[in-house]
Amino acid sequence: MRMAVLGIDIGGTKLAVGAVNADGEILGMAETPTRAAEGPERVLDRVVGIARDVLAMPGVSRRVIERIGIACSGPMDREAGLVFKAPNMPGWIRVPVVKHIEDALALPAILENDANAAALGEFRYGVGKGVDSLVYLTVSTGIGGGIILGGKIWHGVRCSAGEVGHITLVPDGPSCGCGSRGCLEALSSGTAIARSARELLAAGGTSELRDIPNFDASDVARLAQEGDALADRVWQAAVKHLSLGIVAIITILGPELIVIGGGVSRAGDFLFEPLRQEVRRHVKVVPEESLRILPAALGRNVGILGAAAVAFSS
Ligand SMILES: [Zn+2]
Repeated sequence: MRMAVLGIDIGGTKLAVGAVNADGEILGMAETPTRAAEGPERVLDRVVGIARDVLAMPGVSRRVIERIGIACSGPMDREAGLVFKAPNMPGWIRVPVVKHIEDALALPAILENDANAAALGEFRYGVGKGVDSLVYLTVSTGIGGGIILGGKIWHGVRCSAGEVGHITLVPDGPSCGCGSRGCLEALSSGTAIARSARELLAAGGTSELRDIPNFDASDVARLAQEGDALADRVWQAAVKHLSLGIVAIITILGPELIVIGGGVSRAGDFLFEPLRQEVRRHVKVVPEESLRILPAALGRNVGILGAAAVAFSS
């Protein structure tokens, strides 16, 4: 009987559990809203609840489930299985996630940061299949990253590696959630794109964005493509800063592949074409044909597949 693992994705808005085989096929899965305000105990109990549902599914119950991989955001102690402080999850301070899940499901579990898990998922099952090194960036509300070198996640001291969103690009630039200023995240994340457009509107700029209540980065991207000058200015600035962040990553690590996921990456070629051009313009020390920047391939199941990849890689 072929083995499988359980991938558990604990996100700020959604909990997802899937049984996954070594080829990255999802044998059964379930999702439920996180309802983080209920606190960690209730949330973890619901994770266990949907995990039991998945384990009982016909395509899953016949398999031997060997391990569990858990992906969660926030600083953590992987060895101790503790999440120190999950962003957007009130009361998630020093939560023994691994112990809770191991005790309830009687299977060994491994914890990993969600961006690292996504990087590993793309490496095993997605656009990174067959490479030896890649850097994954998720560009959405914030900007996170994961570094794979020699087929393994590079964790750095106390799992501090891969914080690509906090590369300083403009020393006196907009303030960042990390406490610094002018970080890549404060310049090119979805949040930063929408904020920058709002600032230009508040300063008297004209744009069709004015007619869209609570517009977000995807509205900015769409209007920029339609020729809205203010939206275009904001979009080009965000792309330029993202390219500078990627230039730094490529110059230091020389990875085989840069993978970009997250909501902002859904702009497709409107993001990737100018991004590749800008990166080529600046990186001179790496052979041009090795500058590969590709969209993430796993789509909405990246959480489950990333967590499963963590379990298979342990
Ligand atoms: Zn920062």
